[in-house]
Amino acid sequence: MPDFSPERDELLDKDKKYLWHSMAPCNAAIPPMVVTAGAGSWITDIDGNRYLDAMSGLWCVNAGYGRKELAEAAYEQLLALPYYPLSQSHVPGIQLAEKLSEWLEDDYVIFFSNSGSEANEAAFKIARQYHQQNGDPGRHKIISRYRAYHGGSTGALAATGQAQRKFKYESLGGGFLHVRPPDSYRRPDGMTEEQFNLLCAQEIEETIVWEAAESIAAVIMEPVITGGGMLVPQQCYVDRVQEICKRHGVLLIVDEVICGFGRSGRKFGHHNFGLKPDIVTMAKGLTSGYLPLSATAVRRTIYERFASDGEYGHFRHVNTFGGNPAACALALKNLEILEQEGLVDRARELGARLESEMRGLRAHPLVGDIRSFGFLLGIELVADKATKQPASAETVKGIIGQCKSRGLIIGRNGDTVAGYNNVLTFCPPLSSTDEDMNFLCATFTDVMNNQL
Ligand code: PLP
Repeated sequence: MPDFSPERDELLDKDKKYLWHSMAPCNAAIPPMVVTAGAGSWITDIDGNRYLDAMSGLWCVNAGYGRKELAEAAYEQLLALPYYPLSQSHVPGIQLAEKLSEWLEDDYVIFFSNSGSEANEAAFKIARQYHQQNGDPGRHKIISRYRAYHGGSTGALAATGQAQRKFKYESLGGGFLHVRPPDSYRRPDGMTEEQFNLLCAQEIEETIVWEAAESIAAVIMEPVITGGGMLVPQQCYVDRVQEICKRHGVLLIVDEVICGFGRSGRKFGHHNFGLKPDIVTMAKGLTSGYLPLSATAVRRTIYERFASDGEYGHFRHVNTFGGNPAACALALKNLEILEQEGLVDRARELGARLESEMRGLRAHPLVGDIRSFGFLLGIELVADKATKQPASAETVKGIIGQCKSRGLIIGRNGDTVAGYNNVLTFCPPLSSTDEDMNFLCATFTDVMNNQL
């Protein structure tokens, strides 16, 4: 492990002077953690402190840190062929496209990019062009849900339903509409969960009708809303959305950027619901975060509409680095690891354990709701269980800080502008050991019990 301790202070000064951090205010009161190494579920900072990373970085290190095989796969490919654009082809690109189609358990053609945002941008353009070529040129609007996050580039941000991330950058691309998310915990009094889920799905249909179906290109949704605070829909919601899309000729884009690659306890999140998306977008866990790579999987029947249209069917989308050969080779190795180590099944097992250990906290006065999906968990903190008033930012940050001081990193998600940035999130590597889980559950439970 490299030792940076002699240059520690100098590095921190340079960090402050030169590095503009994402997702953190400039000159944040607490300096950033300078991470120097990772192994399994654990990371080490420049001061030698170790932390269990129960957020897998930014929801992506599915296979865990320190996988030599992944580095070797990229290294060998970099020596053989470091780069070539996918306007032509290369072997790891071909092999990975086939493998992804196999993982999707259905017939898809794969378009590569570098990030989740780009995968969604490509999906929107493909949906719009598809309708143009289908003699339906008016279909350009995309329906999404409030509280969803779909990326930081202008189109993906326009699809995002979190005002906190958008309001300083309006106006973004036009043609994006938002509807109520299936947030069952905050459903109106007197409604059952099922009634509320169906009402939320119904809003999609009403939006389609009010806006005119001939103007709607697609609906985009994550299998569960993750970054917006772990909002898990009921099966009836997902079934109804699929049925509505089909009936109105609207494409269904499923954003698997977080839920893909075993995270949900199945290969993809939508497999849990028996969904048949027209387009699936993916990133993060595709390489376990080791290199940037993303993909937009397009149902073959849609691709064929492009393929049968000669020059007019040309998808005019340039992406210089999309499908870099080393990233593809690494992704192939990553999928091999997930398969050989049974990490998809392991995620299901670990998710069930996490949920059952956290269930004991339901009676805690600060815990309003606990929601899980595969090996993802959200705990919604409230100041008052009866009114569901969200816990204060200080309370939420205090708990996260106390976990960190005891060697456990957890996340905070929701929506700041709407006042719901009160959901603690857990998304540990799928390779986590039983000992890691013992540490995670014991530490978090203890921190929560200390709030009493
Ligand atoms: N979609 C979802 C569900 C995400 O959580 C994210 C990022 O967190 C994105 C898309 C955008 O991915 P990226 O940051 O790689 O552009």
